[in-house]
Amino acid sequence: AKEDGRGTYRFFETGMDARAQARRLLELDLRAALQRNEFEVYYQPIRDVAKDVVVGFEALVRWNHALRGMISPANFIPLAEETGLIVPIGDWVLRQACMDAARWSRDVGVAVNLSPVQFKNPNLVLTVKEALKASGLPPQRLELEITESVLLQNSEATLSVLHELRAFGVRISLDDFGTGYSSLSYLRSFPFDKIKIDRSFVTELATRDDSMAIVRAVTGLGKSLGIVTTAEGVETDEQFDLLRQEGCTQAQGYLFSPPRPATEVETMLSKARAQ
Ligand code: C2E
Ligand code: CA
Ligand code: CA
Ligand code: CA
Repeated sequence: AKEDGRGTYRFFETGMDARAQARRLLELDLRAALQRNEFEVYYQPIRDVAKDVVVGFEALVRWNHALRGMISPANFIPLAEETGLIVPIGDWVLRQACMDAARWSRDVGVAVNLSPVQFKNPNLVLTVKEALKASGLPPQRLELEITESVLLQNSEATLSVLHELRAFGVRISLDDFGTGYSSLSYLRSFPFDKIKIDRSFVTELATRDDSMAIVRAVTGLGKSLGIVTTAEGVETDEQFDLLRQEGCTQAQGYLFSPPRPATEVETMLSKARAQ
């Protein structure tokens, strides 16, 4: 038993080492990825529910690693946030998304995700203004998606940054709505332009009464506050029909399209939903 215990301990220690080492390697790779041009922005269409047309795209970063292939953001954003690398990566995504959107054949919006870490950078407002200026994209076409966690940290400074961006014409969306702790109070702390209803509620829309009740409440809230509501992760016609009945403003999900490379935006723009 003693030997077992020691063996287990050693194994555990080795396991930790291997994990720590894998992390260090990933971090080195991540540092080099920008120079190597390994990031790519994919775009997922957002549709107006009543009109059933594309009204914008969400920019979602991908890491096309030379050896490991396409890496999903879930597998590198957390490390990028811990190491601060999300700041240069996020800046790159922002500039790229603005440049891409400025060339689209229709004046639809582009939504870019901002990490809470990017709000610690005192140059955030300047970075956004420069990305708009360099691309020629009108500020009104840019949407920045933030989660509640952004408002948790240093909220005075964060709120003033958000107000400054909004005064400049950029729209601000509250992402993943309903997954945090005190969602409703955040709606009072800042005049958001849009609420994105988290996929977890949309997924269970047809199967759970409570999810239906929550979606109904949020779309109702959006209507009375004059805030656009976007449902995330719409995968079935049944979900889409329920969202339309509830008066949800916009919908996004695999039912319409997964995120696709920038070269496919024009195809997504011209395609009607019925294919
Ligand atoms: P998010 O902002 O909530 O983005 C929506 C995610 O849901 C995307 O995953 C999208 O591909 C996925 N999705 C869309 N429709 C459906 C659907 O119908 N079903 C299912 N199962 N999934 C759907 P993705 O691209 O893997 O991104 C994951 C997360 O990584 C994002 O969640 C966001 O938090 C983060 N992320 C992505 N790009 C960026 C970025 O440029 N900057 C920052 N800071 N975070 C990013
Ligand atoms: Ca988002
Ligand atoms: Ca989301
Ligand atoms: Ca999410």
